[in-house]
Formats: sequence, structure tokens, C-alpha cells
Amino acid sequence: MQSRAPSRAQLSQQVIDSCLAMNARGINQGSAGNISVRFENGFLITPSGMAYDRLQPEHIVLVDLDGSSQDNLNPSSEWRMHRDIYANRAEAGAVLHAHSTFATALSCLRNDIPAFHYMIAVAGGHSIRCADYALFGTQALSDHMLVALDGRRACLLGTHGMICFHDNLDKALWLGVEIETLAKQYWHACQAGDPVILSPAQMDEVLVQFQGYGKQPTAAQ
Ligand code: 13P
Ligand code: ZN
Repeated sequence: MQSRAPSRAQLSQQVIDSCLAMNARGINQGSAGNISVRFENGFLITPSGMAYDRLQPEHIVLVDLDGSSQDNLNPSSEWRMHRDIYANRAEAGAVLHAHSTFATALSCLRNDIPAFHYMIAVAGGHSIRCADYALFGTQALSDHMLVALDGRRACLLGTHGMICFHDNLDKALWLGVEIETLAKQYWHACQAGDPVILSPAQMDEVLVQFQGYGKQPTAAQ
């Protein structure tokens, strides 16, 4: 039997659960950050500036890919970044933006995170880029983000935080935690010295190795 696609109310509850999990995992502060999931011809996104522990499914705003919304509440001020990811990256099913401490601290240095560790490949390439700075909530910020996301599914946002996307909400949350962990590890490594950076050839090898990693026989899953 084919399973039915989740309803708007179900997906909205999943967005709220993901926000609560994001804060419980310590990768975001208060109502900063935002989360969305692709839905029909647009996406369901957290409302702007509302405390996550007060959110009800009816507070989650439906925004069309053209940026319009029929709902009463204002969507996240960063709806343009979410919209541009869904419009430009067909593989994106969910987007997470957070002001996690270490990724944000590194974003203030405006440097990419290089391949100091092979797990950098979770972002899709040889580095996690840092997007140029622009005012929060602007199209300029989203334009910079798209450049930094070329061939990647995560980036830092200059003097702001990080953003990532994946197939679904669970994977986007997993990736957000991975990005913050890598930022923290890089930060600590830099306190102790100059980390050795893996070569492009070594990172290419990692990307190939990742394609087969974590795949178990169907019966074991
Ligand atoms: P919103 O509350 O509008 O989602 O804004 C939070 C944020 O992180 C802005 O960059
Ligand atoms: Zn932000």
C-alpha cells in the first residue's frame, strides 16, 4: 500500500519538533534561527520572532515559491534564503538556519572552514564556505548564500551564523549538529596550532568513500 503524503498540520508539527530539538541540542539560541520544510508549491516555515515553545501547528506559515503567502502571521524574516534554496536546489526537502556558537564565532572571522578533518565532506565538498556579509532578512544575504552553497549543502553566513539543507527535517537537523561540531573542533584545533589541511585528492577520496558509508543490508535497517 502506498503511504499518503503527510498533511500540512503533520508537517507543521514536525517543523515545531525540529525547532525544539535544535534548541535542545544546543545549536541555537532562543527564537533566533528558523526551520522550513518543502510543501506543495512552496514551503512551511517558522513565523518571525516567536518563541518556539509557544508554537502551534497553525502558527507555521505557508509561503509559495514566488514569495507570496495567504497566512496572517509573518514568515521568518529569512524566508528568502529558504525560498532560494528550494527554488535552486531540487534535492532540498528541509532547511535549517541557526546561530550556533562555534559556527557563528567562525563566521565572524569570515573564513571558510578548510578540510582540517575528513568530515568536512558532510557539507558536500572540500570546505564549508563562508558567505559574504549582508543585512539579515535581505535578498543580498540570500544571493551571497547561494554562491557559498554552490556544490554544498551547508555554509557559514558572514557575521551571522550557518545554514544547511537536506532531504528531510531529521537529516537537516543531523547536518546542523554536524556543522556545529566541526566548527567547534576546528576552533579548538586552531587554539593549539595550525591544523594540517587534507589535500584536494585526499578529500576526493573521502567523498567517494562516503558514497558507500553507512549502508546496511535492508533487513538490518
Ligand atoms: P526570524 O525570527 O525572523 O526567523 O529571524 C531569526 C534570524 O535568525 C534572522 O537571521
Ligand atoms: Zn539568523
